[in-house]
Amino acid sequence: MMIFITFALIFRRLTFLPDMHEISLIQASFLTTLIHLIMQITKDKVAGIHYTLRDNEGTIIDTSDGRDPLYYLHGAGNLIIGMEEGLEGKAQGDKFELKIAPSKGYGEIDPAMTQKVPRSAFGDQEVKKGMKFSTDKGDVVTITEIGLDSITVDANHPLAGVELNFAVEIIEVRNATDDEITHGHVHGPGGHHH
Ligand code: ZN
Repeated sequence: MMIFITFALIFRRLTFLPDMHEISLIQASFLTTLIHLIMQITKDKVAGIHYTLRDNEGTIIDTSDGRDPLYYLHGAGNLIIGMEEGLEGKAQGDKFELKIAPSKGYGEIDPAMTQKVPRSAFGDQEVKKGMKFSTDKGDVVTITEIGLDSITVDANHPLAGVELNFAVEIIEVRNATDDEITHGHVHGPGGHHH
């Protein structure tokens, strides 16, 4: 009698199991989700990130807040070294903070990139401290001092010598297309359109 009851229980449980076809579908969709979640940022992956950049005083220098995520091709030198290093191996949904030294960011301040130029170089243009000008070589210089005859300009990147504090969230990671790898940049949303 006892044996009969046990069998009956087992039988009842079996009837609640989905058939094999259903199980394989469930597993397949779970695996797809899992693969999507664990796809890591490595060379030739495209990642979409949201970020906020602050200086050491907490002032926001730049943020993707309110904009589309920044999409880039990893390992192609499209981002500063410290950022690429920090993003390596991260996956969709990861949120983290990155502190980047100037040497892996926009470089140290190079005093040799500051120079005095004659006032005449600016012609009739109004000049003020802090104004930015583009040189004929395409470099951007900032006026740091205005003298009687000469004007001091600084060609260092505005973020040279600045420690960068990034708050980052990985929105998406996908494989780059062959075209993107050949071109060395992202196509489509957030990238080049051509
Ligand atoms: Zn292209």
